[in-house]
Amino acid sequence: MKISEIFKNKEVTLSFEVFPPKTDAGYEAVEKAAAEIAALKPDFMSVTYGAGGGTSKNTANIAADLQNRYNVSVLAHLTCASSTKDTVKSMIAEYKEKGIENIMALRGDIPKEGRTCFDYNHATDLIYDIKSMDDSFCIGGACYPEGHVECERQSEDIIHLKEKVDAGCDFLTTQMFFDNSILYQFLYRIREKGIEVPVVPGIMPITNKKQVARSVELSGSSVPQKMKIMVDRFADDPDKLKEAGIIYASDQIIDLISHGVSHIHVYSMNKPDIAAGIMRNLATIIK
Ligand SMILES: Cc1cc2nc3c(=O)[nH]c(=O)nc-3n(C[C@H](O)[C@H](O)[C@H](O)COP(=O)(O)OP(=O)(O)OC[C@H]3O[C@@H](n4cnc5c(N)ncnc54)[C@H](O)[C@@H]3O)c2cc1C
Repeated sequence: MKISEIFKNKEVTLSFEVFPPKTDAGYEAVEKAAAEIAALKPDFMSVTYGAGGGTSKNTANIAADLQNRYNVSVLAHLTCASSTKDTVKSMIAEYKEKGIENIMALRGDIPKEGRTCFDYNHATDLIYDIKSMDDSFCIGGACYPEGHVECERQSEDIIHLKEKVDAGCDFLTTQMFFDNSILYQFLYRIREKGIEVPVVPGIMPITNKKQVARSVELSGSSVPQKMKIMVDRFADDPDKLKEAGIIYASDQIIDLISHGVSHIHVYSMNKPDIAAGIMRNLATIIK
C-alpha cells in the first residue's frame, strides 16, 4: 500500500527500518532479521540503499520479499549521487516490476574519495526523474531537524527542502535526533515556509556506547546530557544499556505522539529485539 494512504487511514503509525547486507554472504541473516521485524506487524518497513550501489539489488530483493512473503508495505530507498541516469532508471523500473509503490528518494553521501559520477546533484533531481518515469510512486524525502551537515545555514537547507517537496515528495522522514524540542522547532520553521507534507520523525534507539559516537559522526545530531548520563551509567552492562536505550526511545515516541506527531519511524538497524522492545512499550498506544 502507498504510505500516503497508510497515513490517511491510521491516526498513529509505527514503522521500522532494515539495511541490506554489504555482501551476498550476509543476505540470509538480514532476511531472517527482516522477517522477525515484519512479524511485529509495523505499519510499513523501509529498506535502505547502499550509496555506492553495492547493495542495490539486495534493497529491491529484500523489499519485494517483505511485501510478498510477509505482507508488509515497504519503502525502498534509492540514492543517486554515485549513479548514472541509466542505473537509476533501471532501478526505478525494477521497483515497479517488483510491485514496490513507495520510494525514499535520496542523494546519498558524497564518497570520501570524491565523486566519480555527476549525473545527479541533489535528491530533487532524482525526484523529478522518478516523477517523469512513473507518476504513480509515493515518494519520501529526507530532512534534517538540526540542518544537513553540508549546509552552513539552516534557513538555506529549508529553502532546498521546500524545492524538494515541491518536486513531488509526499512525506519527509527526519534524520535521528535525541531531543524532541529540536523537532518541534524544526516543524515550526518548515510549516512557516509552506512545507505541509507529513513529517515522520526518525528515532534511533541508542543501545550501545560505540553507537553514540558513530551516530553523531555520521549525522551531526547533538547528544543531550540526559542521554550521555544514561550511556555512561550503563556502559559496562550491555543488557541494561539496551533496555535503557529502548525505554529512552519509547519515551521520545510517547512525547511525540502526545504532541500530535503521529507517524513515527524507528531506525531498528536489523535488530528484531530492539524493534520488539519498542513495540512492547507502544502496542496499546498505537493500536
Ligand atoms: C530518512 C533518511 C534516510 C536515509 N537513507 C539512506 C540510504 O538508504 N542510503 C544512503 O546512502 N544514505 C541514506 N541517508 C543519508 C543521506 O543520503 C545523506 O544525508 C545525504 O548526505 C543527503 O541526502 P539527501 O537526500 O538529504 O540530499 P539532498 O536533499 O540533495 O540535500 C543534500 C545537501 O544539498 C543541499 N541542497 C539541496 N538542493 C540544493 C540546491 N539546489 N543547491 C544547493 N544545495 C542544495 C541541501 O541543503 C543539503 O545540504 C538517509 C538519510 C535520512 C535522513
